[in-house]
Amino acid sequence: MRVLLIGSGGREHALAVGLSADPSVDFLAAAPGNPGIAQVAELHEVKVTDPAAVAALAVELSADLVVVGPEAPLVAGVADAVRAKGIACFGPSAAAARLEGSKTFAKEVMTAAGVPTARSFACSDMEAVRAALTELGAPYVVKNDGLAAGKGVVVTDDLDEALIHAEACGTVVIEEYLSGPEVSLFVVTDGTAAAPLMPAQDFKRLADGDEGPNTGGMGAYAPLDWAPADLTERVLRETVEPTLAEMRKRGTPFAGLLYVGLALTPDGPKVIEFNARFGDPETQVVLELLGTPLAGLLNAAATGTLAEHGPLRWKDGSAITIVVASHNYPGVPRTGDVIEGAERPGVIHAGTARNADGALVSAGGRVLSVTAAGADLPAARAAAYALVEGVRLDGAQYRTDIALRAVEGRITL
Ligand code: AMP
Repeated sequence: MRVLLIGSGGREHALAVGLSADPSVDFLAAAPGNPGIAQVAELHEVKVTDPAAVAALAVELSADLVVVGPEAPLVAGVADAVRAKGIACFGPSAAAARLEGSKTFAKEVMTAAGVPTARSFACSDMEAVRAALTELGAPYVVKNDGLAAGKGVVVTDDLDEALIHAEACGTVVIEEYLSGPEVSLFVVTDGTAAAPLMPAQDFKRLADGDEGPNTGGMGAYAPLDWAPADLTERVLRETVEPTLAEMRKRGTPFAGLLYVGLALTPDGPKVIEFNARFGDPETQVVLELLGTPLAGLLNAAATGTLAEHGPLRWKDGSAITIVVASHNYPGVPRTGDVIEGAERPGVIHAGTARNADGALVSAGGRVLSVTAAGADLPAARAAAYALVEGVRLDGAQYRTDIALRAVEGRITL
């Protein structure tokens, strides 16, 4: 198989490692990629949100399969353009990617499908915003309707802060607050058949103790030994299958990666959000533990043959990933700082680049992540922190408590 991977973040580096390890892949290209991805794939320049340009590159490279990492190209219609050239693409159509691209659309689908989720109001003027906040009460949850790279949500007890965020966003969804531990469940689907991956937990806040601002994600681990044994089966039945059926009914089947962000509330798992692609950094841990060859799995979803694909295999043990972010992230990050110690296995590149001298430097907010596996979670945690301590980046920020509460048995349902 000749595979073209679209994207340049940590998620794509993890996907590139998985794809290149699949014996059925004899050629792997990435666009635009990053210096880490360059170790396992041939890099090409392309504007990832330009569907015609991506499709032309796929044709030029004689790709059999295109794997789209980020949401923006999907929402822009890259998967549609690739498929129009007769090339299989792992990633939903623009119409189906609206499950992520529009929070109001996602809520509409969830309501029609009877999926357990927070009560909510879509509001496009401040009068409606005030009424919704009053009706639902604190803590207030205000979500930007459109794509915001995981940073469009404000959860606060402060009414003024909620109002200011709503004012800045335009159209927003005001939601009931869901309490309980959060879980990310990735589901590979061809629109009908669904293959759930292992549930993982990510850490959205910048600082230890879940303090500080929301980020794209600062770490993750799997498996979740504390989660209910029937979690995946229940979410498939209550959420995934009804959502896929609703999307088929609308004539816009969802094929690709359905990311279900859940809160395990006292009333059971409820959907916080859908995404239309793998999550970063949960992908790093989930793929670390996946024993099934990745390209074959994604190709089965892209070609509508997932029902014939065998059951997934998982490695024993646990995996954890720790994100290293640049100075001032999630504000405007400082870039151009030299990175040392990033050559070792387990270091996944995100916002990195080579400067004129060929030195590896920071080039974004989340600079890199380290991923390690171990016989159990404490062993994986120790290995990942040993790895992160070997990375040198001036002004680096990372959390020291990824998976700590799970290790200490302090997560309560
Ligand atoms: P989202 O971009 O929708 O994933 O939201 C980002 C983060 O905000 C989530 O991971 C949660 O921590 C929090 N959040 C979003 N919606 C809710 C909600 N309804 N109740 C509680 N927390 C929420």
